Amino acid sequence: MTMDAAAVTNIDLTTLITAVADTMAAHADELTALDQAIGDGDHGLNMKRGFEAVRAETATLAEKPLPEALKAIGTKLVMTVGGASGPLFGTLFMALGKELPAEPGRADFSAALAKAIDAVAARGKSQAGQKTMLDVLYPVQTAVAAGKTTPEVADIADQAAEATKPLKAIRGRASVLGDRSIGHMDPGARSSALITRAIAGTLEPRV
Ligand code: ADP
Ligand code: MG
Repeated sequence: MTMDAAAVTNIDLTTLITAVADTMAAHADELTALDQAIGDGDHGLNMKRGFEAVRAETATLAEKPLPEALKAIGTKLVMTVGGASGPLFGTLFMALGKELPAEPGRADFSAALAKAIDAVAARGKSQAGQKTMLDVLYPVQTAVAAGKTTPEVADIADQAAEATKPLKAIRGRASVLGDRSIGHMDPGARSSALITRAIAGTLEPRV
């Protein structure tokens, strides 16, 4: 593959949705265990339910232009995931759909991702360093902007999720634990890394 500007449009939405829904189903118990440690234990089921609802709409979604499909995925996630994470992941996909042109290049994707993550932060009244999904999403955006390959981006996402362990939760349900949240990986950070790896796996190494 060449690094032509339109390479990011080589997105097979059916493959992408299947990959994300599969990983959420495969890791639901793990996400639940993470959320049991510092939350209420619903994150695995929340994410699995949301992406199964998206999966059920795959045929319709795959016919839409990429921005419209992303907006529809975000709306579906808001309606089905629930918890704090539903509106936040929903915002991420909806904002990506809003910001991306129909045929995005890498620079478009990087810029849209930055704006979408800022929209999540605004919605959650949160910022980096508070032990949330943002602590994976921001490093992922930085890696995309820096031109890392998709396998590198996936590894950076995993490392960023690991790096939430020593953090103290300042936002979300885990924040009520204060210092007792330290030493556990944030469930939303883990699910963000899983989504990143799943999507990265469906794209060319150099998008
Ligand atoms: P709930 O906390 O309502 O049970 P989930 O368990 O589905 O919802 O999701 C919890 C995850 O949501 C956390 O691990 C964290 O990553 C993310 N999260 C919660 N609140 C915020 C926030 N204000 N900003 C960013 N992310 C948040
Ligand atoms: Mg929860």
